[in-house]
Amino acid sequence: MPILVVGSVALDSVATPFGHADDTLGGTAMFFTAAASLYDRVNLVAIVGDDFPEADLNYLRSCNVDLDGLQVSPGKTFRWGARYALDMNSRQTLFTELGVFADFHPVVPEAYRHSAIIFLANIQPQLQLEVLEQTSAAASTDEEAPLVALDTMNLWIDTTRDALTAVLRRVEVVLMAEEEVRQYANTPSLRVGARQIFELGPKLLVIKQGSYGALLLGADGSYFAAPSYPLEDVRDPTGAGDAFAGGFLGALAAERARGRALTLSDYRRALVHGNIMGSFACEDFSVNRLRGLTPADISARYRELVDYTHFEGSWRGETH
Ligand code: AMP
Repeated sequence: MPILVVGSVALDSVATPFGHADDTLGGTAMFFTAAASLYDRVNLVAIVGDDFPEADLNYLRSCNVDLDGLQVSPGKTFRWGARYALDMNSRQTLFTELGVFADFHPVVPEAYRHSAIIFLANIQPQLQLEVLEQTSAAASTDEEAPLVALDTMNLWIDTTRDALTAVLRRVEVVLMAEEEVRQYANTPSLRVGARQIFELGPKLLVIKQGSYGALLLGADGSYFAAPSYPLEDVRDPTGAGDAFAGGFLGALAAERARGRALTLSDYRRALVHGNIMGSFACEDFSVNRLRGLTPADISARYRELVDYTHFEGSWRGETH
């Protein structure tokens, strides 16, 4: 059950208190792809310049990824630079050089239009809408309709709020960082903020809480919390949110491949896979830790998280 993703593929230059990496593989679609392709096939829609390193292309070719939707245009690949403070939570963006990304218009190949899951990774909401325009005509029945999920960032809430709202009206699942929910809904309460987002149409909201884990809120009032995997060393948190989305939607794609409708339990387990992939992404620069991960590595972390969070359903003080 392939997953279609649109987003950025970048060359990142990142400095943390524990080292730095220059012109290294990054971008929202890239981190997503590196994680999701460990679960299922990914159809990648993005753009790079003709300076994009052959070694990085070869890595992509080695993944479970279809690259027909990757445009290679004359010019420079999107570049982004950032520096982290000692707490590894506050990040300063040093530069954003759009290069070929400035004139990017996603073109969804015909074969991608029936992808079971669509992930609109964090890029300009107008580009996310262009993908939906190209894919929405493809499904003729409800069963064929893809699961559409969206990620975003503070920049678009500030600068293109109306376009972001237009995309929110057309997706089922929303992934947002905690502070973005507060910013978008203009309220300190996450539950109140979630209700505002559900009023636009989405059925599920995943709230990413960085090193604390993630919450899953449903329009039906359901609520679930999954703590993060307790890492000893965080080397570079860049792309953790996108790798999280890759684990979350990758796990859902694997469940959907079994040919039955997704249940709330599937979404809960998928949230744990999101945390697992986010944790792996933080352990090294770029997608380095995600490269070469095996199903056994993922299962081991999954079992640990089950163990760390399990508690009995009753307690001695309970009255009957
Ligand atoms: P995150 O750590 O989840 O915020 O994701 C970081 C990734 O987002 C980096 O690999 C950047 O290349 C990419 N990125 C940063 N700014 C933008 C932007 N304005 N549009 C698209 N991708 C971006």
